[in-house]
Amino acid sequence: MSKIPGFPFSYGNDFEGERIRPDNLYVEFGGESSRMVEWLTTAGIEDIEDGKIEITGSDINDLSNKAALPLAIVIEVAGNKMQPDYEPVLEKQIHRILNRIQGVMHTGQRDMACLRISKSIEKKGFTLRHIGVILCQKLHEDFERIIDKIQIKIYTEENSVTEILNEVKPVYTQRDARIEGMTDEEIDTFYSCTICQSFMPYHICTISPERSSPCGSYNWIDCQASYSIDPTGPNKPIIKDNPIDLRLGQWQGVNDFIKKSSQGKTEYYNLYSIMDKPMPTCEWVECISVVLPLCNGIMIADKDYTGMTPCGMDFKTIIDNTKGELDTPGFMGHSRYNITQRKYLSADGGIKRIVWMPKFLKIDIRDKFSNTVDKAGIQDLFDRIADENTGTSEEEILPFLKAVNHPALSMKPLIQL
Ligand code: SF4
Repeated sequence: MSKIPGFPFSYGNDFEGERIRPDNLYVEFGGESSRMVEWLTTAGIEDIEDGKIEITGSDINDLSNKAALPLAIVIEVAGNKMQPDYEPVLEKQIHRILNRIQGVMHTGQRDMACLRISKSIEKKGFTLRHIGVILCQKLHEDFERIIDKIQIKIYTEENSVTEILNEVKPVYTQRDARIEGMTDEEIDTFYSCTICQSFMPYHICTISPERSSPCGSYNWIDCQASYSIDPTGPNKPIIKDNPIDLRLGQWQGVNDFIKKSSQGKTEYYNLYSIMDKPMPTCEWVECISVVLPLCNGIMIADKDYTGMTPCGMDFKTIIDNTKGELDTPGFMGHSRYNITQRKYLSADGGIKRIVWMPKFLKIDIRDKFSNTVDKAGIQDLFDRIADENTGTSEEEILPFLKAVNHPALSMKPLIQL
């Protein structure tokens, strides 16, 4: 724990993992009642006033009984050694830096971030400006080799936050697209991610080109960049030698790494299967796939969909029942992007198994989904997938799946009923 000059609040590793419960919550950005987005981008060195922090909209000490607000944090950096590939890696540091403030809890990333500020720290005079101060200081301190100048813009007005969201979405798409065309077979190294160990001490994700991070924030290229910036950080190379089962996605090299890094809590998992020892799920996954036994298929629940799903639970309840180091056959967390990757559930039939997903998710991934199913030779699959308008129980969607002759119905049984 340390006191930082110009930042009169307790800060240190000890506070990572601190939860801000409702009775001590002063304000929440993001989460269920508002949007929060964070974006780190490179600017010209002459365009940045180092250390400048600009706030547009209310700061938290201007709030009149509001418990939720939208928020956009835009960090502009410049430096001779800065590269575009470093942007997602540096952006992800927001999570680590803010979680080390006592009385502040940060979860998620990109346009799915959430920030909670406690009543206790607000009473001590904490404001959004302090968010800017600590981000500036720590990014400078930790990445002095790369960053020469930083300025931070913070927005809490609905319209400005929406504008930033619209501006940054194509950037996220571009970042994800860098991985297109790479296959798991052509490389001999995957990467670990242990960022979530601040909240779940034994959690470890394995990220491959075709199994992007379950939270949607990192892909294989980001992990590679992260390791090159900080070899002792949360993303380390995993040599995928000694294959055990290539269909399921299991290698002895990966097993050894997982076992060591989870302190023996997780012995092994498979990268490409939902039925056979899937990778453990944490609470910050973008989506979770769930087996629907009656439909012989898979539904996808998305973080932004709060309604009921055909498995009889909403997203939050599914996550509450599956997160941790639990062995959860039939449940697998993943990113939105992963749905259209070639290895998505490839051991269990892949994309053809999808029988239900929320309508907005269908719309969100439509173009990429269409390309993927075209390649798989099932062009009209998109229209054969049910959504909440079709039904929110297996019994309600099954007649629709039969009427459209959904391919899952004639595939090998997922479960022997
Ligand atoms: S969910 Fe996995 S990939 Fe995403 S930040 Fe957490 S540990 Fe890393």
